[in-house]
Amino acid sequence: MVRAEAVHKAFGHNLVLKGIDLEVQPREVFCLVGPSGSGKSTFLRCINHLEKINAGRLYVDGRLVGYRQRGDKIYELKEREVAEQRKDIGMVFQRFNLFPHMTAVENVMEAPVQVRGTSKAEARERAMQLLDRVGLSDKTKQYPSQLSGGQQQRVAIARALAMDPKLMLFDEPTSALDPELVGEVLDVMRDLAESGMTMIVVTHEMGFAKQVGDSLVFMDDGVVVESGHPRDVLTNPQHERTKSFLSKVL
Ligand code: ATP
Ligand code: MG
Repeated sequence: MVRAEAVHKAFGHNLVLKGIDLEVQPREVFCLVGPSGSGKSTFLRCINHLEKINAGRLYVDGRLVGYRQRGDKIYELKEREVAEQRKDIGMVFQRFNLFPHMTAVENVMEAPVQVRGTSKAEARERAMQLLDRVGLSDKTKQYPSQLSGGQQQRVAIARALAMDPKLMLFDEPTSALDPELVGEVLDVMRDLAESGMTMIVVTHEMGFAKQVGDSLVFMDDGVVVESGHPRDVLTNPQHERTKSFLSKVL
């Protein structure tokens, strides 16, 4: 579903991704862990072309991200075509980026109506189903300010799902939450994983990675240090850098 080949990304002189190679299979829950500044968010942002890579190749669902290949030549996609590619990718951030002036159900309806041209009635019905799926059928008319952080994050997940993505990217979705609210968001993510969604999850929740993850990559300083099944990497890390990181977060 996602393939990265020698992906490089620099901000000015700061080389942040130094040749990332990895592959995410369909229906896989792929966990990405690593210290602050190691390039995890940057990598996620490259996957939906919010950042342009400087070298290497990045494919989502067999298509080059942000580019089109014809023979030996590679052409940059137009804004409209990039937007088309992004429709297949849902993203949930650390901070809940809900529209504050819209209710929960309006937040979830927004993209299908605006981007897809779905009728309001149809979008509303689907939004209600999605809010029910994330356990918020009683909060559909609340504004974000009237919801807890965990509830807002569940609305954000429902909103991403409203576009029927093939791939979901989560960037530390629980790290801004009070500890007692983390579980409800992880439960929704676990259900989503069980439904077969392909997910890339940047997280420090090692319990979740161990229970739900199919693969785990430990990244440090813009490179993949080690990867494998979460149980193996977390319980039996091979590299000093992984050991040292895990001793701090576990
Ligand atoms: P954290 O765990 O703190 O979220 P991270 O692994 O997600 O860290 P990134 O946010 O990808 O790390 O940042 C990696 C490096 O890239 C950092 O040195 C950061 O300063 C730099 N960086 C990220 N975004 C930009 C940007 N838009 N412009 C310039 N530098 C950036
Ligand atoms: Mg980050």
